[in-house]
Amino acid sequence: MNHDRSHALFSRAQQLLPGGVNSPVRAFKSVGGEPFFVQRADGPYLFDVDGNRYIDYVGSWGPMIVGHNHPAVREAVQQAIADGLSYGAPCAAEVTMAETITRLVPSCEMVRMVNSGTEATLSAIRLARGATGRQRIVKFEGCYHGHGDSFLVKAGSGMLTLGVPTSPGVPAGLSELTATLSYNDFEGATRLFDEIGSEIAAVIIEPVVGNANCIPPREGYLRHLRELCTKHGALLIFDEVMTGFRVALGGAQAHYGITPDLTTFGKIIGGGMPVGAYGGRRELMQQIAPAGPIYQAGTLSGNPVAMAAGLAMLELIQAPGFHERLSAATVRLCEGLEAAAREVGVAVTTNQVGAMFGLFFTDQKVETYAQATACDTAAFNRFFHGMLERGVFLAPSAYEAGFVSSAHDDAVVEATLAAAREAFRDLAG
Ligand code: PMP
Repeated sequence: MNHDRSHALFSRAQQLLPGGVNSPVRAFKSVGGEPFFVQRADGPYLFDVDGNRYIDYVGSWGPMIVGHNHPAVREAVQQAIADGLSYGAPCAAEVTMAETITRLVPSCEMVRMVNSGTEATLSAIRLARGATGRQRIVKFEGCYHGHGDSFLVKAGSGMLTLGVPTSPGVPAGLSELTATLSYNDFEGATRLFDEIGSEIAAVIIEPVVGNANCIPPREGYLRHLRELCTKHGALLIFDEVMTGFRVALGGAQAHYGITPDLTTFGKIIGGGMPVGAYGGRRELMQQIAPAGPIYQAGTLSGNPVAMAAGLAMLELIQAPGFHERLSAATVRLCEGLEAAAREVGVAVTTNQVGAMFGLFFTDQKVETYAQATACDTAAFNRFFHGMLERGVFLAPSAYEAGFVSSAHDDAVVEATLAAAREAFRDLAG
């Protein structure tokens, strides 16, 4: 594959953008090498500026659940654009969007649109703190909730309850209010609540972890958290930025039958446009300005073009059997990858929930962050490049989930598996 044009662009970009990119994972730092620059995208494919084609399992990190450049989404955007790009005043599409979200995700009786997942999670914890009058929040190792100060925190050594910043620039005084638990550890959560339960405003969790590769919750784990939160008067926030509308039409909360107090969304509800949202019980959401005293705002929030894209996409994914087909394709992919690795004696396991999946270079089932980080990342990095050379784009990090779209039909999955057989053989040999 020729990458001359991408290489030239990356050289220019590195002079002007930190690391040559506008979001760190795109720089290929963890897998090595240089990123390709995208010219266009269509269906299951990305095409780079050198004319190479890749089957895409990143899908813009989730939103392209109906594939890239879907005609219905494109046409909705084109129609919306004809009426102007932004009003700074209410428009009808915002109401339709709110009706759609609250119908598909009943725990959200009201919603507020924002412009990214980061904004959604920041706003949700402000609401949780404001509504409970408490300051502490609890998150989980391996979960990512955007780059807000309260989330760039890890557990302090020895002191379970006092978090320390993971990035310069995050005030220690703030990070101390974030406690970090091990995902899927029942006892750790019980112990923390026994210790400081009355000070906890909210527990925020990715109900299926998509930011430490893909880790589903253990049987009963989300229910355990729900019960602890209810007992101690803390709010349970599901960060469904990845899982929302993907692992099931009603998100992970529908898939597992657990009702959170607040939910955050991103990505998918914009169909590829910059959108996020948060929602929850009416009496909580009524505390947001201007209905209530907790402030949160956004000049571009509820943008008419973004609403049009999101609504067109949400319409498509409500087709009967949509998520079942998507899930079946993902299962086929995961089973095929495991079989291909087994054939040549490479130790690989997969996790899958709906159209989210994870590939781990280990022979053990992965249920915890510690297990995910103990996998052979060097093998993943070689496999990543083996697949890329064969025209398959996996997330450029061993710690990211993969995403399947409805454009990934049998032939595309089979082409992926053919590439994987060769890439695994290279790895074994
Ligand atoms: N929450 C989760 C679960 C995410 O995966 C992400 C982004 N990958 C975010 C929040 C932040 O979203 P954004 O990048 O749109 O700010």
